[in-house]
Amino acid sequence: MISDLSKLCVHTITTKPWAIEDAVVNYSKAGVKGITIWRNAIEGRDLTKVKSHIANHGLEVVSLCRGGFFPALDTKGRQTAIDDNKRAIDEAAAVGAPHVVLVCGAVPQQSLFESRKQIADGIAAVLPHAKQAGVKLAIEPLHPMYANDRSAVNTLKQANDLCDQLASPLVGVAVDVYHLWWDDSLEQEIKRCGKSGYLFAFHICDWKTPTTDFLNDRGLMGEGCINIPQIRSWVESAGFKGFNEVEIFSNLHWAKCQDSFLQEITQAYLQHS
Ligand code: ZN
Repeated sequence: MISDLSKLCVHTITTKPWAIEDAVVNYSKAGVKGITIWRNAIEGRDLTKVKSHIANHGLEVVSLCRGGFFPALDTKGRQTAIDDNKRAIDEAAAVGAPHVVLVCGAVPQQSLFESRKQIADGIAAVLPHAKQAGVKLAIEPLHPMYANDRSAVNTLKQANDLCDQLASPLVGVAVDVYHLWWDDSLEQEIKRCGKSGYLFAFHICDWKTPTTDFLNDRGLMGEGCINIPQIRSWVESAGFKGFNEVEIFSNLHWAKCQDSFLQEITQAYLQHS
């Protein structure tokens, strides 16, 4: 059980119907302490204003979501991805986010082996830009149901291996319980992740049965089968002291009054995380 909201962060996508300006005010009122910004929420905004609005409401910017999607069938496509990731890094620096979360990408027409190689090359290509901006990169392994088109990095072991390969203090991992709860080597890989200094972020929500939509039917903590307190205890034992980030894509929850949903989030956070 968690005793207070001091480590609670909410992703802007979790309350997608709200503009970021309103989300900030409402999170702050509800006692939320951190915010992870999705890039769609700041499109066309003055980022200096966004940054000060967040600071004025006592919230900390935890992450920027998201960069990645490095693999492509041709050089031009891969370069477009690299350019977009550099923009994401600049946006993170502008809003004061310490890292960009990477959904690494995959292309159905090519092998996972090739996509993984392109992911490593893509991250390496943006590293000098990240260094200059002082922004880190957090590789988020995605559940294998997304291996064909969203990410060829599907286990924490693969993410840790990729960090080993890239060997940069700027490259680490975002551990998301939704993607990793099923993995029997999770505890061991979380230990390894912490020991290696890779543990940058921790995302929570729940896995519903049945899941009616592979993308937009995530559950609120307690609505599903994930033992979040156990995974959180592993992450904390591995030295993680950061925020617990609530990241829920859900057509059901987005259709509700977002004020009541936010109340449910804080309650579920205290009871089931
Ligand atoms: Zn996540």
